Amino acid sequence: MTTQLISLITGANKGIGFEVARQLATLGHSIIIGARDEASGRQAAEKLRSNGHRAVHALIDVTDRVTADAAAKQIDIQFGRLDVLINNAGISIDARTVPSKLGLDILRRTFETNAFGAVTMIQSMLPLLLRSEGARIVNVSSGLGSLTQNCDPEYEFAAVKLLAYNSSKTALNAFTIQFSHELRNTNIKVNSADPGFTATDLNGHRGTRTVEQAAKVIVHLATLPASGPSGGFFDENGPIAW
Ligand code: NAP
Repeated sequence: MTTQLISLITGANKGIGFEVARQLATLGHSIIIGARDEASGRQAAEKLRSNGHRAVHALIDVTDRVTADAAAKQIDIQFGRLDVLINNAGISIDARTVPSKLGLDILRRTFETNAFGAVTMIQSMLPLLLRSEGARIVNVSSGLGSLTQNCDPEYEFAAVKLLAYNSSKTALNAFTIQFSHELRNTNIKVNSADPGFTATDLNGHRGTRTVEQAAKVIVHLATLPASGPSGGFFDENGPIAW
């Protein structure tokens, strides 16, 4: 079995996910680019390989358990274990509709990807993560999922009240706490990351931060030492309020 760390990032064909993959590859990890689109997933893996990194693609739609289980089989055959799982895949489709007018289909679709998708991935990958000497799960959340910040009229993004997106990230944070508790006596750490408002397709590139800045906290949590925390919510400056 290889001593090189094996990292899977969902939604890694572009945006913050691809940058996290690139930074982990630069640290020497073997990368599995999780992408629901075959062509762009392959392209992203090829881009890393052309820069001298080790990278493969796995077809994963986080809303489809069958693809997650198939990816777990593929990883088992290719690597035999998994050291890092980054639940990065996410969507934001509220279109600034007020809660009283938001269609339940938008709410359901957002939760399926941003919240339940992470549960699907953890459940599918857990047997592989348990084979690692020290696995790390990072749930890519958002400051918009913080109930404390949502209640604070002085919060920088207090006006951004997206029923589906914000509450799906709150749910994801709740899942971080539940899984970290279940796994507290294993070598697996589970944390939530807030990458900050970043210029990507998700927000029409209106974000003010770069993907390089956004990836920093995610990579930090993916590479925590054995003495590091589990069951927390962090941005690049440290713990933030749930
Ligand atoms: P992005 O460029 O739009 O990337 C989102 C990625 O998620 C894409 O690769 C997309 O794949 C993938 N994805 C969506 N649904 C999926 C599904 N069902 N299965 C698999 N992959 C799926 O946006 P981003 O800003 O990099 O977002 C990455 C994460 O950061 C998200 O969880 C987002 O909520 C979080 N975040 C972003 C910001 C920000 O300001 N940008 C702030 C806080 C948190 P396709 O290319 O196939 O659509």
